[in-house]
Amino acid sequence: MKTKYIFITGGVVSSLGKGLGSASLGALLQARGYSVRLCKLDPYLNIDPGTMSPFQHGEVFVTDDGAETDLDLGHYERFTGVPASQKDNITTGRIYQNVLNKERRGEYLGATVQVVPHITNEIKDFIAEKEGSADFVLCEIGGTVGDIESLPFLEAIRQFGNEVGAARALFLHVTLLPYIPAAGELKTKPTQHSVKELMSVGIRPRMLLCRSDRPIAPDELNKIALFCNIEENKVIPALDAQSIYDVPLTYHKEGLDTQVLDYFELDHSEEPDLSTWEEISHAIHNPESVVTIGVVGKYTNLADSYKSLNEALTHGGIANNVKVKVKFIEASIFDEGDDDAIVHELEGVNGIIVPGAFGTRGAEGKIKAVKFARERKIPYFGICFGLQMAVLEAARHLANIPDATSSEFENEGTHLIGLMTEWTKGDVKEARTETENLGGTMRLGAYPATLEKRSKIAEIYGCTDIQERHRHRYEVNINYKDTLEEAGLFFTGLSPDGALPEICERKDHPWFVAVQYHPELKSKPFDPHPLFVSFIKATIDQSRLV
Ligand code: GLN
Repeated sequence: MKTKYIFITGGVVSSLGKGLGSASLGALLQARGYSVRLCKLDPYLNIDPGTMSPFQHGEVFVTDDGAETDLDLGHYERFTGVPASQKDNITTGRIYQNVLNKERRGEYLGATVQVVPHITNEIKDFIAEKEGSADFVLCEIGGTVGDIESLPFLEAIRQFGNEVGAARALFLHVTLLPYIPAAGELKTKPTQHSVKELMSVGIRPRMLLCRSDRPIAPDELNKIALFCNIEENKVIPALDAQSIYDVPLTYHKEGLDTQVLDYFELDHSEEPDLSTWEEISHAIHNPESVVTIGVVGKYTNLADSYKSLNEALTHGGIANNVKVKVKFIEASIFDEGDDDAIVHELEGVNGIIVPGAFGTRGAEGKIKAVKFARERKIPYFGICFGLQMAVLEAARHLANIPDATSSEFENEGTHLIGLMTEWTKGDVKEARTETENLGGTMRLGAYPATLEKRSKIAEIYGCTDIQERHRHRYEVNINYKDTLEEAGLFFTGLSPDGALPEICERKDHPWFVAVQYHPELKSKPFDPHPLFVSFIKATIDQSRLV
């Protein structure tokens, strides 16, 4: 089958769950036996989201090949299992960068370089390079129709749709039906306007996914179909779900995948196999007990900053038949004051996570949280920054290095954590300098690690060679290995050349594991990450003690 393209746009408001909708449609098409590939076009000017604050844009999702991408790519991976790559996310900034580089190289042969056709061609090339890589390419356009920023993207997908023809391109528009309490009604007018807006740039959506917080009456759906010039059964209600993992099932019930296949004139007479999704949904709604995990972080008032972490915890819960409640604790409040200030917040949690972070704020509070977990023997899971804080905690309190610190924070003190400027990946030497731009100077993407036999980490993974995704600038100095091991913190996983500590664990503790990478990025509901499965299991054991 020649690749078919589904373009997903959003209207009325942002945060409509377009990413989740796209990911769910991908999962449904897979369940029907098709291969899928998902990609996202983001209209902002940053080259990638790598330099954007988690408060602005939520988590940065890192791919195996080291791209810093939009968090929607995390949804795509979690729902379809297809690893995302550098080639699956592009921004306006990157498009312009590519075009301007070509202009400087003289590749436009003296032409006046313009938005149409040069920018739009660059966007079309990004889409076209996916040709043949899957049965369906789902391409989500970030932002909301009507934004100035998304215009070149809309123009590009309009042209692309014309070029491949309607038989191979479907425009699917996601909108919102707001409920007006005073009228007691769901309103369809914003949807009509949003479709009109799309039509004004030459795009005729052939399917609508209507988000709503309550059931939509058939009359309303028919009215939308009539006014928006869309087939009645292709106006799909998309109600809020209790869990995101219910979405593939509920959208299927409303006919999403059936109508997509219908549009492309593909057979849909047989029901897809959704048993995996049914099992996941069942496990989520029927937990045997509850555990509470304290996440001691610094981006705690925006849940999207810890998207993959939250999901990986849920996956660990599914695997253990428990509901995982996350209690976010803002570390910076405890930077000052004595070690016990944080006790009140952490008392009663069944496990503690210090997740990834950048910068000084919150670091001291996190070190206190590590100390609490170590002393009280509460399961501790350090992720990236959480490993670095575990190292500083052990150094300061157990190895008699009271001024142990990281060069990320200050110049004074003993630097157990510092900027590595050179390391090897396979046979290639990679390098970064202290003075380079902040964008793109990190150890990014999948790197191998070798685990020590008979360690807890090797037992958890069931093997001694792993590959995990990284996103960090600083490294624990391997020269402190012996000192830290004397303090009970063992380096049980290293980079294959032995230069970079990847994993630390304590043997005098029921579950104390810290990793320099981000395991949460690879966890999936149907393939939960072993570290999260093991950590949640340990927290269940802990909950039985209290
Ligand atoms: N700030 C730390 C570093 O750059 C940790 C980064 C992270 O937690 N992702 O090394």
